[in-house]
Formats: sequence, structure tokens, C-alpha cells
Amino acid sequence: MKPIQGAFKQIAEIVGQNMTTSPYKLCSICNQQVPAMEIDVLGTKRWVQPKCKCEVEAFDAEQKEFQNYQREREVRELFAISQVGDRYLQADFSNFEVRAGSENAYKIAQYYVDKFETFGRESILLWGDPGNGKTHLAAAIHNAMREKGLVVVFVSMPDLLSKIKATFNRNNKESEEQILKALSICDLLIIDDLGAEKTSDWVEETIFKIIDNRYRRNKPILATSNMSPKDLPEQLGKRSNDRIVEMMQPIENKATSYRREHAKERFGQFKAFLQENEGA
Ligand SMILES: [Zn+2]
Repeated sequence: MKPIQGAFKQIAEIVGQNMTTSPYKLCSICNQQVPAMEIDVLGTKRWVQPKCKCEVEAFDAEQKEFQNYQREREVRELFAISQVGDRYLQADFSNFEVRAGSENAYKIAQYYVDKFETFGRESILLWGDPGNGKTHLAAAIHNAMREKGLVVVFVSMPDLLSKIKATFNRNNKESEEQILKALSICDLLIIDDLGAEKTSDWVEETIFKIIDNRYRRNKPILATSNMSPKDLPEQLGKRSNDRIVEMMQPIENKATSYRREHAKERFGQFKAFLQENEGA
């Protein structure tokens, strides 16, 4: 990566005043004459040397390259923040157990991935009972979008807040600012378990900053929550909730907890076993 060349920094530079002949310069790229222009600066005539079109283009190209380079660096930092746990690393739509009540959420999650380039400014609040597969769907979206080459950050809200708090320690290598920046520049920010955090003024303020940064950049958030949209205001505070209401489409996953169902099933089998062997 080359640094931006000083000569390209300004589109035009002041080359002199009270000159009798029109100055010009030779373009450093195409070698053609580029005439200076006389302008009036606060009552004084000055000659201004514009850049040749090809120099301007070269400057734009370098700047773009520089921005991409910066983004790439920031994206690399994002990987340290993004954390889909081992449990959900392989989560996709094919290994999601669709049960009664989760059909709609399942369909919308797939649609969201398929149409992200078209409707990718939409934010979603996926809510419902704990343990009913919301995190699996969010992780499936994360994994599918990463495969598409998009920059997606997946964090659980309680973990994220601890991570930001840890930056208050001077020895921490990430700063709060870095984390907040990373959270605001990614293509999609997935917040798992919104509302599960312990509240305090600091927590309320930090959550607002995260949500508001995305809102201002017109960038989407996909959040999962065990709380219903009507219980969130009390948990998150009014300001964050107002943003959420404005930017997020609530989608309810109506399925009940399959962790609980599986536990019930196991318990049922155990009971049957006990009954069968009671007489023995
Ligand atoms: Zn030129």
C-alpha cells in the first residue's frame, strides 16, 4: 500500500498572484499542458492550478484503495469480536429443526439471506421463548452471509458488554472506541440475546450507542431476544427502544423451547422404563 502522494492531495493549488502570462503545468501522467485559472480570493486575483483529469482519477483510485485497505484491517479486527460459539459454527438452514410455530421465522431468515443485497437495510428483532431455536437461526444467517463474503459480526449482548468493560483495563489491547467502530462498520450486526444483560445507566448508554451508530449509518441489525417487544422498553431504556421500534421488524418465533421438549421426552422415557420395571 502506497501512501497518498502529497501532490494529489488537493484538486487545485494556488500558484501565484499578479502574474502577467497565464501559467500552466504539465500533467505528471499524460504530460499535457493544464492551464491555470485566475480566480478572485477575497478581492485579490490569484492563479489557481487545476489538476488534469487523469491526476484527479489517479487520486480517487488511490483513495479508494486506501479506504479498502483500512476496511480490510478493521474487518480483521472484527473477527476477534465476532464469536459464534462452537455450538453454532456448523449451524445452517438444513440442520435447523423446524417445529410448530417456527415455520415463519425459519422462512423469513432464509429470505433475509437470499435477498440481503436487495433488502439489506432492514433490521429484524427475532423474539420468542428461550431455547426455541432463535440463536440457531441467527447463526445460520451469520454463517450463510459470511460465505457470501459479507462482513458479519455475531455477538451476544452480555458478552459484548463484558468485552467493552474489559477495555477499561489499560492493558487491554482493544479500546472501546475500536470495538464500537467495528460494530458500526460491518455489513450486518447480529446481537444475540438482547435484553439478557444486567441493566445500569452505563449499560443503557452503551446499548444506545451501538444501536444508534447503526441507525445513523442506515446499517442493519438482527437481534434475538427472549423478551417480547412490549417488555423491551423497560429493559433497554426509552432511547434504544425508540430506535428499535423505528428500525426493526419484529418477527416472533412461536415455537416452544425444544430444550424443554427434549427434556420432557427423556423424562417420559425414563418414567416408562420405571413403570415397566416396577413389578420386577
Ligand atoms: Zn493528464
